[in-house]
Amino acid sequence: MGNPAVLLAPGVVRIPTLGDFINSFAFTDSDGSVTLVDCGLKRAPARIVAGLAHIGKHPYDVTRIILTHAHPDHAGGARGMLNATGLAGVESHEADAAYLRQGSPPRRDTSTTSGRVFERLPQSDFSAVPVATELKDGDIIPVAGGMRVVHTPGHTPGHVSLLHASSGVLITGDSIFNIASRRTWPLAGFCTSYAQSKATAARLADLEYGIAAFTHGPEIRDRARDRIRDFLRTKSDHG
Ligand SMILES: [Zn+2]
Repeated sequence: MGNPAVLLAPGVVRIPTLGDFINSFAFTDSDGSVTLVDCGLKRAPARIVAGLAHIGKHPYDVTRIILTHAHPDHAGGARGMLNATGLAGVESHEADAAYLRQGSPPRRDTSTTSGRVFERLPQSDFSAVPVATELKDGDIIPVAGGMRVVHTPGHTPGHVSLLHASSGVLITGDSIFNIASRRTWPLAGFCTSYAQSKATAARLADLEYGIAAFTHGPEIRDRARDRIRDFLRTKSDHG
């Protein structure tokens, strides 16, 4: 088992919940409160609690849980983390709120082969959770100086990336993966609209950040913005 929490910037850690393949993030505010981003699979809460303990935090210190989107590898542990923290609900983009409240992901892109295959499999449901706050594009969530909601729909209708300007950390969410040291698109069959997901990822090229953090894969600290822009420039038109 690797490091339970990886420091990205002062007050910002990545918490690996399935090796580096599925990540949560914790942001600590000046008053000691913690904002958690994503909750991994259903069994991830034990890893998240261990990651919090590694930075001297208890689940009761968590005052906000933000979900980048309504998929079981991000929302699956949300019910468990609500129970552990005592919070009443999560925060998500308004376009994914209904899926979180019903505990089932949005439909898959049946214009792709993998989407047609996956659509026939049993739906990968997760425990329904209340959504206490619905987010919109451009919202600034009051997390340690402000976290900007960047709506990047396509992977799901309400998928968001998150820009924490004061630490220079961008969380791409599932708009871009970083697996085996390579930037890739999410798997087409798991997107609601693969084409839209690739198109809206272009928004990330315009943002200012020093560290690119991924819900799938380890972060990039060196020339992060250039490398994201290189990926978007070479991959956006095709494939
Ligand atoms: Zn995912």
